[in-house]
Amino acid sequence: MNSNSLYERAKKVMPGGVNSPVRAFGAVGGNPLFISKGEGSKISDVDGNEYIDYVCSWGPVILGHNHPEIAKSIESAIYNGLSFGAPTEIEVLAAELITSSVPNVDMVRMVNSGTEAVMSAVRLARGYTGKDKIIKFEGCYHGHGDSMLVKAGSGALTLSAPDSRGVTHGTAKDTLVAVYNDIESVERLFCENKDEIAGVIIEPVAANMGVIPPEENFLTGLRKLCDKNNALLIFDEVITGFRLCFGGAQEFYGVDADIVTFGKVIGAGMPVGAYGGRREIMECVSPLGGVYQAGTLSGNPIAMTAGYTQLKILSENKEIYNKINNLALKLEEGFKRAAGELELPMWVNRVGSLVSVFFTKECVENYKKAKTSDTGLYSKYFNYMLKEGIYLAPSQFEAMFISYSHTEEDICKTLDAARKVLGNLKEL
Ligand code: PMP
Repeated sequence: MNSNSLYERAKKVMPGGVNSPVRAFGAVGGNPLFISKGEGSKISDVDGNEYIDYVCSWGPVILGHNHPEIAKSIESAIYNGLSFGAPTEIEVLAAELITSSVPNVDMVRMVNSGTEAVMSAVRLARGYTGKDKIIKFEGCYHGHGDSMLVKAGSGALTLSAPDSRGVTHGTAKDTLVAVYNDIESVERLFCENKDEIAGVIIEPVAANMGVIPPEENFLTGLRKLCDKNNALLIFDEVITGFRLCFGGAQEFYGVDADIVTFGKVIGAGMPVGAYGGRREIMECVSPLGGVYQAGTLSGNPIAMTAGYTQLKILSENKEIYNKINNLALKLEEGFKRAAGELELPMWVNRVGSLVSVFFTKECVENYKKAKTSDTGLYSKYFNYMLKEGIYLAPSQFEAMFISYSHTEEDICKTLDAARKVLGNLKEL
């Protein structure tokens, strides 16, 4: 079976042939590749091609595909049974590791996805404060929970459908939208909705409208505004958690959050999310408190084993972060050099091991600027890079994820390919 014939079959039985919209390659044209295997920094498709992978399952695969220790740990776990719906030791180990490493997280609740983590965190912020409204930022994506599908990033942005049908007006009206990196837009919302705002949710590094770093003082400004207005600051660290550094964005930027959400890296590729915060906030969660949240498969022993093993490796080898950040820096510098030499309108953003190339000459600091990117050009770039054996996100508005298994050679090959492709695009 090749990718094209699998896609034809898939389209008949799955909406768009996929289980998550951006996988469908709709934004870049062409058919999605069906992946058969990943090994280190490479993935192979069912057509027999190999690619250097910069999607890395959209972030979880920070150590590379098919990591031997993670694979072995899962293998030994599965023979004890897949799920019990009762507590297991590995959940405690994972929770202890997370709470001892992430600032302001005294307690944590495991869930099954980033979406669930955010939905629960938002409910908790409302339950804890007794207020209804939440401020989010235009272009930030926080999963597909109803209240977060307002001016959302990622697939919702790529498909030009920022507001989903099926989200009721009643739900959407409690989500207020501010402009990323614009503290005054947040201040205004607090003024206009006095004593009504439960919390502010943000991707501390935006990575779902492409990568956009927070400007200096922006996150501290949010902290101050939340304190002043008795609102909670929620850091959605589904992407940044255990990626920017082991303690995530709070440690990286030295800013305290009240609730933190996790996903991706904490599951190592298994379906895991989590949310945590200070003890007095987390004690509001059932069965201790009145904020209800539950899950048949939450804290699943196999998923916990995979995640715990990955986190343990990350915690014991801090060099990992130096390596992935340095590789990402090389990419950033290489892209910038190529853009300069070719005099192409390109803007490159990077934070840690997250990189985005935008086809615009504007400084990309918020959603509006991200949208100035020439997505047609990105589609061409994506497809030519694929031909060169480089697998990028099939959308302008996503990040490149660098893993510990990427090598200097991978980076050189990627930059060689990019120079060639960008040179050709200039000719077109
Ligand atoms: N928050 C952020 C910041 C994300 O990037 C994502 C997914 N990319 C989510 C939440 C939702 O996570 P999931 O897809 O696991 O539901």
